[in-house]
Amino acid sequence: MTTVPASPSVSARQIPESMDALALLGPDDFEVREVGVPQAGAGVVLCRVHSVAVCGTDTEIISGHFLERGWPRGYPFTPGHEWSGEIVALGDGAAGFGFAVGDRVAGTAHCGCGYCRMCAIGRYTLCENYGHEERGHRHYGHYSTGALRQFHNTSIKSVFPIPDSMTLEQGALVDASSIALHAVKRGKVVPGDTVAIIGSGAQGLLAAQCARLMGAAQVIVVGRGARLETAAELGAEVVDNTKVDGPQAVRDLTGGKGAHMTVDTAARGSSPADAVEMTRKGGRVALIGVPLEGCELPLSRIVLEEMDLFGVRANPGTCAEVIPLIAAGELDVDTVTTHAFPLRDFARAYETFTKRIDGALKVLVQPNVG
Ligand SMILES: [Zn+2]
Ligand SMILES: [Zn+2]
Repeated sequence: MTTVPASPSVSARQIPESMDALALLGPDDFEVREVGVPQAGAGVVLCRVHSVAVCGTDTEIISGHFLERGWPRGYPFTPGHEWSGEIVALGDGAAGFGFAVGDRVAGTAHCGCGYCRMCAIGRYTLCENYGHEERGHRHYGHYSTGALRQFHNTSIKSVFPIPDSMTLEQGALVDASSIALHAVKRGKVVPGDTVAIIGSGAQGLLAAQCARLMGAAQVIVVGRGARLETAAELGAEVVDNTKVDGPQAVRDLTGGKGAHMTVDTAARGSSPADAVEMTRKGGRVALIGVPLEGCELPLSRIVLEEMDLFGVRANPGTCAEVIPLIAAGELDVDTVTTHAFPLRDFARAYETFTKRIDGALKVLVQPNVG
């Protein structure tokens, strides 16, 4: 990974009045511009952003594919939702929850209202007050202002302290890792299971590791290209679906039965149907990516083989769970973090990520370096 020296830490007294922020001006149109530094309101912390990981959802937001979903609701807009940083100012109430200036934190996208039925049972990524900022809801980097800026003001519900033993680069991978963990937890992986993963990008490589941490005995990553070598280094069996039929290959590797659970991280073309086809009777299929279009599914198989098919939306409760796993070295996020660029070079970072230049997996953008 390319590293760039960080500029020295700022104290609360040194918060500037203006800062650099990425501004989307329209589909595939962006620039880095100078904007005012936000305040930390009630229940909010202001953070000096260290690293922001670019994610597949960012590319769809930047290219305007999610406009009808309201991501974003208008321009200019600042995306970015997988990030890390250091708290530089506390809004009213934050200290009472244990936050302090200088805390290093990992940030995430969702902030539930905290009141509705879904929030009350812990499923705050399904908040019934979604989209209502006046009721306390936020979805940072989607419709609420995101972290691709030097300072980010965020609800204390969307930041998680990280230990000194973790780097801030690793902190930026907490969001993506926690989604992978939520997927395999929702899939009720038990020791001895076989888990198949479609997609050999960062999300697939993280899901493969989380499946192993849940006790899977056999993990099979179905994907393409040099990324499969990384999957193999991380201990997975690999299937190149540009050379062989993915579902058939998984069946061949499992005595003809298929996986107990399959995670589709690709969400492209026939991948959700392939996920069903490589799963055994009574198995579970998790869909992580947000598909841009519909897809035909083998419904009679799903019915007659009693399969459980479910969506996975983000990471309710799992950010706090992956942090100790990353800190302990049980979940390797360094291997999937391949590049880092200053915010001023966002265009280069974006191109590196979208074109998979130089084996890119997770690409970090660092607003306070360079
Ligand atoms: Zn993301
Ligand atoms: Zn809610």
